Amino acid sequence: MGSKRFDRLSDFVRHEANVYAVCRRCDNSSVIEAVQLQRWFLCHNWNGEAEAIPRRLRCSACGARSPRVIPAPGQPTGPSRAFFPPSEDAWKQLVRRLRG
Ligand SMILES: [Zn+2]
Repeated sequence: MGSKRFDRLSDFVRHEANVYAVCRRCDNSSVIEAVQLQRWFLCHNWNGEAEAIPRRLRCSACGARSPRVIPAPGQPTGPSRAFFPPSEDAWKQLVRRLRG
């Protein structure tokens, strides 16, 4: 993926890459599905610029914030899969809750 640019979360989605996050403290890593993560960011109205992504992520093992984030071609793994709303209805409920 050398020449592709990953300036924003939407670039990950466009290039069909997922988000590989590696904890700087304990080296725990996981692959987060970019499509889901982008939706999550949009729901929360968060900045999707690449440098802003780590601030919103927290290590599932030790709780540290700001992991290293790089594009990954792999499939989503572990706890990050269970993190997102499991259905379309659940997403809609989330949006309703956030808009209060
Ligand atoms: Zn950690």
